[in-house]
Amino acid sequence: MADEEVKPSALSYEVLAECSTTKARTAILTLPHYKVETPVFMPVGTQGTMKGLTSKQLTELDCQIILGNTYHLGMRPGTEILEKAGGLHGFMNWKRALLTDSGGFQMVSLLKLAEITEEGVKFQSPHDGQEMLLTPEKSTEIQNSIGADIIMQLDDVVSSTTTGPRVEEAMLRSIRWLDRCIAAHARPTEQNLFAIIQGGLDPELRKTCVKEMVKRNTPGIAIGGLSGGEEKSLFCKTVTLCTDLLPKSKPRYLMGVGYAVDLVVCCALGVDMFDCVYPTRTARFGTALVPWGQLHLKNKQYATDFEPVNKDCGCWTCRHYTRAYINCLLGREEVACHLLTLHNIYYQMQLMRDIRESIKQDKFPDFVQGFMKTMFPDNSYPDWAVNALASVNIILDSHQTDDSKQEKPLEAKHEKYVTPGECNSSVIK
Ligand SMILES: [Zn+2]
Repeated sequence: MADEEVKPSALSYEVLAECSTTKARTAILTLPHYKVETPVFMPVGTQGTMKGLTSKQLTELDCQIILGNTYHLGMRPGTEILEKAGGLHGFMNWKRALLTDSGGFQMVSLLKLAEITEEGVKFQSPHDGQEMLLTPEKSTEIQNSIGADIIMQLDDVVSSTTTGPRVEEAMLRSIRWLDRCIAAHARPTEQNLFAIIQGGLDPELRKTCVKEMVKRNTPGIAIGGLSGGEEKSLFCKTVTLCTDLLPKSKPRYLMGVGYAVDLVVCCALGVDMFDCVYPTRTARFGTALVPWGQLHLKNKQYATDFEPVNKDCGCWTCRHYTRAYINCLLGREEVACHLLTLHNIYYQMQLMRDIRESIKQDKFPDFVQGFMKTMFPDNSYPDWAVNALASVNIILDSHQTDDSKQEKPLEAKHEKYVTPGECNSSVIK
């Protein structure tokens, strides 16, 4: 580790425009396989696939970078097959950018028997029961074989609601593990290793961690350990603290965040990259994302509803099928899940395009006002969002007229925005 030394990097990050009111910015992140426009949402493709969508469909949906899970990929197909296939890009026929996680989070959340020591994460293989050890070196080696544009350091993850000395221990260990990942990284001119800020909800620990991670001069930096069921106001405060201290010249990636309101608020707080299984997972439960919240299409009321999921949506599903058709197929035919996955990813991509465009035109605050009004038609904005946006100079217009009640879409009565369970709190990522 050296402060001044110029580290090899396989990316360039060029800011195109900055919001003159908030901390939002839009940029071109040039990675070895693709030029990614930020702020960007990265859908999660667990085993080199996006739950029924082909790479052609993902390209058509305007996905510019997707996330692969190292844990799953390392188990199957395994590094040997991936190396023979020319990495994950060749194996899944994906020409654009890829990011892999370290595999650590998956182990800790999926495998009850995982044990963390200074050496690494010890766990029992779910395949043959053998004891295995994921070290920072091993995680980096697997990710080097997968060949993603961005790879993540192995970090010591604790739940965001954990308190006490364990939080500090995990934060300090994550710094030591970053050093081991940097030393083990065999392809620094082809793959970008990102550091991950830990430190729970403790501002002092987060500050220390940011300082230490920034010193290591990785090409990008992630904010980890959030979105695990903590209070939303504390979540926003922690994001704010980190984005205030992180260098402006590097991409900032907030892990495990994917609800529309969170994306909009965190873009305002200066975040550039997001990932979450939520849009794809919720599709599999029959839920469609719409600008005014969610539609639970399994509900009886949709059996005779011949409207598209969202008449203003340009996706294939909304252009060709009705809510009634999807309602009829849900739970019986896999195609219903595909249609909703397609719609939900389109929704996320459109949201991010709208955010980027509004920043370019320096109209991001107007966009936020409009977005929030549509999502909360009766102005019942959650306090945490009001406060977080106020911290970056957006005061939500809380004016309520009788007209706004009449304009409220019918669905809003049943499908009002509810803060769903947190992204990372579920076992499956
Ligand atoms: Zn649609």
